[in-house]
Amino acid sequence: MIEVKELTKIYKSRKSGNCTALDHISFTLPDKGFIFVIGKSGSGKTTLLSLLGGLDTITSGEIIENGRHIEKFGLNEQVYYRNSTIGFIFQDFHLIDDLTIYENIKFALELQGEGEEEKVKKALADTDLADYGNRYPKELSGGQKQRVAIARALVKRPSIILADEPTGNLDSKTTAQILDLLKELSKEKLVVIVSHNLSDAQHYADEIIELSDGKILQHIKRNERFDARLRLEKDTLIIPSGEAFSEENLRQVEKEIAERPPKKLRQDEERFDPIEIRGGVYSKFRPSL
Ligand code: ADP
Ligand code: MG
Repeated sequence: MIEVKELTKIYKSRKSGNCTALDHISFTLPDKGFIFVIGKSGSGKTTLLSLLGGLDTITSGEIIENGRHIEKFGLNEQVYYRNSTIGFIFQDFHLIDDLTIYENIKFALELQGEGEEEKVKKALADTDLADYGNRYPKELSGGQKQRVAIARALVKRPSIILADEPTGNLDSKTTAQILDLLKELSKEKLVVIVSHNLSDAQHYADEIIELSDGKILQHIKRNERFDARLRLEKDTLIIPSGEAFSEENLRQVEKEIAERPPKKLRQDEERFDPIEIRGGVYSKFRPSL
C-alpha cells in the first residue's frame, strides 16, 4: 500500500520563478491493481510518478510505502528502493542501443548486484520475447522495444511498476498488447500508468486519478457490479449510466420488451465510483479531457 499525504512539489528556479507542480495532494493506493493517472499536459503526472519512484526530492508532505517513509530516505535507501521496489517504464523505452535485448535486461540486474541467467530468461519469456534475446534494439518494432523495457523492469521483481505514457509512441493495436500485458502484471503488482487516453483508462483502469494544475480533480474506482448492457430484469428495464449500447444488445432488449413490456425504469449504477478520502468525496466520472 502507498499512502500519499499532503504531497507538494515546487520546482525552484531563479530564472523562471517557482513552479508548483503538485499542490498538497493526498490519496491511498492498494498493493495491486492498475491505476491510471490522467490529466492535461503540465498537470503534474510525471512529477507524481517520479516522486512515487524516489527519483526526485519531495518539497513537503509524505509518501509511505508499506510503512516506509520515502521522504525520509537517505541516499543509499533511496537507491535501494528504486532498484528493488520500483520498476520504471518510459515512453521512449530507454534501451541501450549497443547491447542486445538479453544484455539490456541483464544490465538491469547487474546494477542491482546480481546477474542470473534464469531470471533474465524468465523476464523474456513473460513478455513473449524468448526468441529475441540476441537481437539489438534497432532490430525491433516499437511494441517489441516496449516489451523489452517491461522485461527489464520485471527482472528485478519489483512490487510497483511505474509507467509514464508507455504507449505514447505506439499504434493502437500495439498499445492494446502493452496494456493487456500491464493489466496481467497488475493482478500481482501495483501498476501506476500515466496516460492521455481516456478510453484506455475506462477500459483498463481499476482506479483513475485525474490531475489538474497539481491537484486531484477526481479519484475513482471501478464498480465491480457494473453491467454495461441495457437489460430487462423481471418487470424493470435497467439503463446503465453513460453507456453506448451495441446494436446486438439493443435488438435483444427490443425483442424482450415486445414480449413483456416493462412496468418500471431504473437507471443503473455507474462504471466507476468516487473514492472517499478524509471526509471529502471526489465527483463522479465525467470525461474532462
Ligand atoms: P505532466 O507530466 O502532467 O505533463 P509534469 O509533471 O511534467 O506534468 O510538470 C508539471 C509542471 O511542473 C509543469 O508546469 C512543468 O512545466 C513543471 N516542471 C516539470 N519539471 C520541471 C523541472 N525540472 N523544473 C521546473 N519545472 C518543471
Ligand atoms: Mg509527463
